[in-house]
Amino acid sequence: MDQTETCASALRALDTIAVLGAGTMGHGIAQVAARAGYQVILRDVEREALSRGLRSIERNLAKGIERGKVTEEEKDLILQGIRGTTQLEETIRADLFIEAAPEVMELKQKILREVEQHARADAIFATNTSSLSITEIAVASAHPQRVVGMHFFNPVHIMRLVEIVRGRETSDETVETVSHVARRMKKEPIIVKDVPGFASSRLGVALGLEAMRMLEQGVASARDIDTAMELGYNHPMGPLRLTDLVGLDVRLRIAEYLHGALRSETFRPPEILRRMVNEGRLGKKSGEGFYKWEDEAEARNAHLK
Ligand code: NAD
Repeated sequence: MDQTETCASALRALDTIAVLGAGTMGHGIAQVAARAGYQVILRDVEREALSRGLRSIERNLAKGIERGKVTEEEKDLILQGIRGTTQLEETIRADLFIEAAPEVMELKQKILREVEQHARADAIFATNTSSLSITEIAVASAHPQRVVGMHFFNPVHIMRLVEIVRGRETSDETVETVSHVARRMKKEPIIVKDVPGFASSRLGVALGLEAMRMLEQGVASARDIDTAMELGYNHPMGPLRLTDLVGLDVRLRIAEYLHGALRSETFRPPEILRRMVNEGRLGKKSGEGFYKWEDEAEARNAHLK
């Protein structure tokens, strides 16, 4: 793995990436960044969440070895390339921050402000938001030209798309630099305007919410609704199983946001989604959502209880 970046004129040289949030997305982003040869600092505010994230990376890599996709040597290099911390101060030397904290506008703005107090003046701040406005997040920044969306997909080490979202003030240099980073992570970047739901969430969330309404109405079981899309439309994964992977709480927040921003009933969160989130049935991360997730094989065969 090449640790040095050779860059064309418009690109910024990057060496160190700080990933903020070690949850479902953050740990995966840290993994692909380290695999691309970057020095990675993975920061979470919760010590337990950080440990969980680091364990998930080890588990992903162990599975990669079993499947012949990762060598023992690569695994060691990747793990050596990631340093976990709960202290924001330890991220100061990062060239690029990728924020993967919960989908709450005020939180993302607060993190951006905190980062700018500590970071080097030319650092880029990318947010992995699934739906929030990059322009609005960047209002908290003294350098909105270096704020950009970098929307990865779950599971990050497998999914190849990254939406690069250009806020109103985002510079071409920033867009080019993070597109280059995405390519070096072996992802395919697409450049998208800063509109609610970008290119992916708007369609994906609409499908997921309609699947939930169908489940509420007793049209079919969760498994059969998923099978309809998997076998009838050749989707690799049905919308309810995908919602379990994404996290029901994450989906609920996105739906609420899109409902308000697009003023469309398509995005009104269904009752079943609110109820399940209130009950703590958040999907794979809590062990139960539309499926039980004791282990993945069981979830594949599970029925809605
Ligand atoms: P998550 O709840 O799994 O993880 C969020 C982590 O952020 C938690 O561990 C939390 O302790 C930590 N955190 C909270 N405040 C923090 C702070 N100030 N600094 C650092 N860490 C902090 O959430 P997630 O599913 O990984 O989602 C993160 C972001 O990625 C959200 O914006 C979400 O919309 C987006 N996203 C999620 C998915 C998905 O499938 N889950 C897909 C694409 C994008």
